[in-house]
Amino acid sequence: MAKICLCLTGKTIARNLEVLEKYRKYLDMVELRVDYLDPDEKFLIRRFPEMAGLPVILTIRRLMDGGNFAGGEGSRISLLSKGLAFAEADRRHNFAYVDLEDDLNVPSLEEAARTFGTRIIRSYHNMQGVGDDIEGRLRSMFHVGDEIAKVAVMPQTFDDVHRVYQAARKTAGMEKILLCMGHLGTNTSILAEYLDSYLSYTAAIDEEDFPGGTAGQLSPRDLVELYRFRDVGSQTKIYGVLGYPLKITSSPEFFNTVFSFEKIDAVYVPFPSDSVESFMKFAREINLSGASVTVPYKEKVLPYLGHKTAEVESLGACNTLIADSQGWSGINTDTRGFSDSLLQFIGARDFRKKRITIVGAGGAAKAVAAEVFRLKGKALVLNRTLIRARELAAPYRFAWGGLDGLGVELMNGFNDIIIQTTSVGMAPDLEGDPLDLYSFKGTEVVMDLIYKPERTRFLTRAAAAGCRILNGHDMLMRQAKYQYSCFFGKEYPSKLVSRE
Ligand code: NAP
Repeated sequence: MAKICLCLTGKTIARNLEVLEKYRKYLDMVELRVDYLDPDEKFLIRRFPEMAGLPVILTIRRLMDGGNFAGGEGSRISLLSKGLAFAEADRRHNFAYVDLEDDLNVPSLEEAARTFGTRIIRSYHNMQGVGDDIEGRLRSMFHVGDEIAKVAVMPQTFDDVHRVYQAARKTAGMEKILLCMGHLGTNTSILAEYLDSYLSYTAAIDEEDFPGGTAGQLSPRDLVELYRFRDVGSQTKIYGVLGYPLKITSSPEFFNTVFSFEKIDAVYVPFPSDSVESFMKFAREINLSGASVTVPYKEKVLPYLGHKTAEVESLGACNTLIADSQGWSGINTDTRGFSDSLLQFIGARDFRKKRITIVGAGGAAKAVAAEVFRLKGKALVLNRTLIRARELAAPYRFAWGGLDGLGVELMNGFNDIIIQTTSVGMAPDLEGDPLDLYSFKGTEVVMDLIYKPERTRFLTRAAAAGCRILNGHDMLMRQAKYQYSCFFGKEYPSKLVSRE
């Protein structure tokens, strides 16, 4: 079972111990990052393993490898020696591991480590990419039997991430640590067991004075409680969400909670991919069971579907992938999620007699327009790219226009309900408002499909004018519940509904 390791990057030994204590119940081991310690504290490292009371990796990372040690190699080696000196017969008082870079050749250090039972982690870091031959590098790094080879790389594309998974498969059974750093690589921390990695690194991301964590690193709590790290085994089915940049998503929390509640041996992982093609290849590699699809890929996944529902076919947008023997089946659950949410909000059974403006013409707008039409509403579609507004409106005989003065004027005939479906205003771009030319009258019902932030600038303006407002959270929950039913062929558990 892959172990959970917390990187301790505090300035003092005392502060590191304090943070260790906070997370202890989640941890198998910690890494003392001596490169972050204040100068005087560096003299105190030798007693740290005894104080920590669990296995400790001794690491002094250089700047060039993404660390904080700016001194010369002489002083780094001397510090490492201090950490390994005066070893005790009780091995729990010694460092359990020492991280030595692959290009560091100091036999005396290695000998000291081996003599006292400190295992060497032979590491390679690439902060610019993943390198040419990850498998070859892993194999070449085995100098002596009980060393653990570590390759930590910074993928630039999702293809890079895929190559790391391929290297993991080819080196299955080899004791190693393998991970992708950065936002693209969070999935390698969650799936460390799948990658056959000896451990998964976590960071104290909630502690403001604990620097050094790269973007995308998880806290031990999230790894265990949100991603169910301890339950992920070789038989665990992998689900996930495809999107880009996918900086914010609530789907992992939703699905991992229900997996846990229903005791389903599955895990749900974010897969930010810069290319659908790369993701689809990767999905086969890891035998992905199913995925949610979000911005900007709901339309771009269509060519990869072996089977699609009539709804996906007519909409031209898919937000759910299910693996089957033929490849991928595509479903759309945004449609029902949207209409159930808005109809309940306005207390109606359909959109009869409602004059509606749909802002946007992307994947989500397609689902919205189809439902407005199915449920007898009349609509105006406004979009930045005019031709897309026209293409979306035409089959339903809806009016269409641009996000400009002319379009806003047309809204006078379509303002019972306004539905915002673009990604403008979504965190972190909190200032965006796609309809800033429109002044709310206060009589409109206004829905924004965005759910983070809870109130976009657009919704804030609407509320200030006295409009009834609804954000996209309820729709998200509803479409995810339908997605769950599609993945597992059963209803979302009603007991969990009552706990929401
Ligand atoms: P998408 O297919 O990429 O479409 C993006 C839409 O936003 C297009 O209409 C695009 O216009 C417009 N847009 C992007 N940047 C713009 C800008 N700077 N100014 C004006 N318009 C801009 O994305 P999607 O899948 O439809 O998702 C859109 C939003 O809906 C996202 O925020 C997503 O989180 C949300 N959503 C929520 C739920 C839910 O359950 N609550 C479900 C689905 C989607 P152009 O055509 O001109 O590019």
